[in-house]
Amino acid sequence: MTCIEYQPNNLVLHEGTLMSKFRFLQIGFCFVTFSAVLAGCSKSETPAPESPASTASASDTAPVGQLGDAVAPNHYRLELSIDPSQDRFSGTVEIDITVNEPSDRIWLHGKDLDVTQVYLLDAREQRIDASYAQELDSGVALITLRSPVDAGPATLHLTYSAAFNTNTNALFKVDRDGHSYAVTQFEPIAARSVFPGFDEPGFKVPFDLAVVARADDVVVTTTPEASVETLGDGLVRHEFETTRPMPTYLLAFAVGPYDLVDYGMIPPNAIRDREVHLRGIAAKGLGERMDYALKNTDGLLSVLEEYFGTPYPYKKLDLIAMPESFGGAMENIGAITYDEYLLLMDEDSPLNQRRAYTVVHAHEMAHMWFGNLVTPGWWNDIWLNESFASWMMNKAAQGYWPEGEFDRETLKGALGAMSNDSLAAARQIREPIDNNDKISGAFDGITYQKGGGVLAMLERYVGEDRFQAGIRLHMERNADSTATAEEFIASVAEGSERAEIETAFKSYIEQPGVPLLSVSLNCADENNPLLEVSQSRYAPLGSTIDPNESEWQIPMCVSFTADGEQKSSCTLLSGKEQSIKLDAESCPTRVLPNADGTGYYRFSMDANGWQGLLSSAADLPPAEALVVADSLDAALRAGTVTAEAYVSGMAALIDHETWDVADAAMGHLEAMTNVVGASHLEPLQKAFRDIVQPRFAKLAGKSDSGSNLLRQRMQRFLIVMANDQAMRKPLAEQAAARIGLDGEPDPGAVPVSQLETVLSIGVQDIGEPFFDLLLGQAIASEDPAFRGAAAGALARVEDPELVKKLQAALMAGDFKGTEALGIMARQMVRAATTEQTYAWIKENDDAIIERIPESFRSRIVPSLGSSFCSDERADEWQAFVESHADGLPGYERPLAQAIENVRLCAALREAKGAELVAAFENYN
Ligand SMILES: [Zn+2]
Repeated sequence: MTCIEYQPNNLVLHEGTLMSKFRFLQIGFCFVTFSAVLAGCSKSETPAPESPASTASASDTAPVGQLGDAVAPNHYRLELSIDPSQDRFSGTVEIDITVNEPSDRIWLHGKDLDVTQVYLLDAREQRIDASYAQELDSGVALITLRSPVDAGPATLHLTYSAAFNTNTNALFKVDRDGHSYAVTQFEPIAARSVFPGFDEPGFKVPFDLAVVARADDVVVTTTPEASVETLGDGLVRHEFETTRPMPTYLLAFAVGPYDLVDYGMIPPNAIRDREVHLRGIAAKGLGERMDYALKNTDGLLSVLEEYFGTPYPYKKLDLIAMPESFGGAMENIGAITYDEYLLLMDEDSPLNQRRAYTVVHAHEMAHMWFGNLVTPGWWNDIWLNESFASWMMNKAAQGYWPEGEFDRETLKGALGAMSNDSLAAARQIREPIDNNDKISGAFDGITYQKGGGVLAMLERYVGEDRFQAGIRLHMERNADSTATAEEFIASVAEGSERAEIETAFKSYIEQPGVPLLSVSLNCADENNPLLEVSQSRYAPLGSTIDPNESEWQIPMCVSFTADGEQKSSCTLLSGKEQSIKLDAESCPTRVLPNADGTGYYRFSMDANGWQGLLSSAADLPPAEALVVADSLDAALRAGTVTAEAYVSGMAALIDHETWDVADAAMGHLEAMTNVVGASHLEPLQKAFRDIVQPRFAKLAGKSDSGSNLLRQRMQRFLIVMANDQAMRKPLAEQAAARIGLDGEPDPGAVPVSQLETVLSIGVQDIGEPFFDLLLGQAIASEDPAFRGAAAGALARVEDPELVKKLQAALMAGDFKGTEALGIMARQMVRAATTEQTYAWIKENDDAIIERIPESFRSRIVPSLGSSFCSDERADEWQAFVESHADGLPGYERPLAQAIENVRLCAALREAKGAELVAAFENYN
């Protein structure tokens, strides 16, 4: 999906940002793009000894990875009968295929389908009867022909039915306000649950689509409607135009009593000489809230068209607000699906929500070129889609809305990915995938944010225009086809005329880890200063990583102050150690080893080096201040800087005038609450107030975007993390007025941007009457912004009796889609509720796991335990997750990462906990 991505590790380590990250990052799926492998249990799958890409599909053994090339599809004719008020749907599919070797067996995909008829017509139109059987839980199926078919063209015919999914995957239905809706989520491998076929991204062919539906239901799919035929019995057959060549995972269907908003034609522009039809689709009654999203589409799309130099590739564009939250958005060709939070808004909606829309919408539309027009040949290269869209979305959003503060989002995403990339269990960007169970694991922060950061680094190294030339070349060469990582890298190297970047590129995508550059100034010759640099792999305290096992080619840029000037120089670093001559005639007073912050690496320095940087933290350019905050945090976690230097350094960065520098430093300090533990919170909270209150006071009267964003975050930090009683009291009264505790609700009582924080105070300080009323309002509300704020606030409840009530509501299914998951994750991460939530999860394990959307169940369940901080809990959690392994295909790496996070926290607490508490106590 597009997605933007859900980062369970970051989420659970930072209580305060959990919900907002959940919404914002996850977007896309790309956000939600995780599709899931169902928890079947009839057959076990054992990994094949090697990727079966070249194995004939006539093999006797079911292929656990790629199907192979014995049979290839050329064209589908797919007709579905979809009535969302029923429990099942049905379909027929004809697939024109090429048989590459004579055989009586055809391996393909189909999952939980009840196939009632299957036969093949050979090249002479001779019918060969056949049987169909699903062989693997992952949806690998076998067609056995009564007699062998010759090599050459043939057509498969299948008739089948299947149950609607009810958990935001495949073709799923949602009942809402007495209406039933159906909609799809196929990426990565759920198309096979809707029709039998060759469900791999490399099989890119045209589809003819038809849907039979009730006359009063709206029907939307990939292409414009070509004709409508009335069938009787209140049914209508909709036929759609033939698609461009496309893989199965990018098809979409929406059927039901949706509002359909026809926004008319997007006019031609300098790049495109034809119109594009734009429509909005939302649950009944919500269509009018699509106006903002539709109105801003043309501008964003034009920015993308200008970048690619090729027009939007498809005839129409539908934006579908899904009637159920699935955690993000998905870039289906011509019919993008989104969580309602991402589309239903207006000019007065919170800045966070409008930013989320802008960046996710840009991400999904960027996929129309990268992923849809040019598609990875196999899931090992899904990073090409997601890294690119994650990088492009911020560039396009910044181009369209310069005041929107998107220009450092790619950098912040990359820095965020480094925490996961610091684990011994980190995956490399390009990871071999030899088994269907491993596919959903390829959609993680490494794929999205690290990949985006690496692209930004290379763009800076070759130059913006040259990089763009490489992208355009890649689009021209591979339109309507597939491309591998090698082909992409070759396009960029050739288009930018910088062949040397191929090796650097590969050193980043084919090994995991964060490079650490240890730098020191050598001014032995005062007039000829040198920077001594050595590289290793970053490893925190307690890590099992061998720092010397890896080596990168690193585009390194250094900025420094010398001869009274600010200077910078770049070099392509290779080898373990290098001496860089600085263009200066005196010893520099300050060296920053990551100019503009675009290098994907961390740095370490001696105490004097840190002192030089941090004493002038306020003067650092914002991007450089962000990398300083990250590298300082990493240094503490590696044990190479004192807690005192750490706390005062972060305090200096919080005083930086740029909103996201202050926000990032605040986030690092917040994470320390977990390290010092619940029994030492008071000195932390006092220090937090002393550090943040002066900066918060400076925001008074400021109304620019950055100040508004920071005000909201600092308010939450002071109230929730720093327990600022003076701020809490008046807000409790506002919270009561907002929900009408003593009268009518007053929506004007609290600015929407502060809603979650203010409601949290009501939940915590007023107690049961407030909690009960808010819970009822949250469940009844159809406003995604209010629901999200209310769910976030309810998740901060601490009274054990009220926690029980919240758990009962979760078990009753009162929250939609991913809301329940967000609440559960926050209850787990907050020290006040961790134990009660952990006991509840153990007691209700199967029922709770069942409620987590299957598309990311295997990743999320293990991550729920990653905020523990002791070896004992690591052992317990490992045993708990392993006891549910049958229902969590592909859980191994997420579990290894969660357990490693717990052990690293324990090691850091052991080594630095007391020192940190003292540093906070002594802060003034
Ligand atoms: Zn995406």
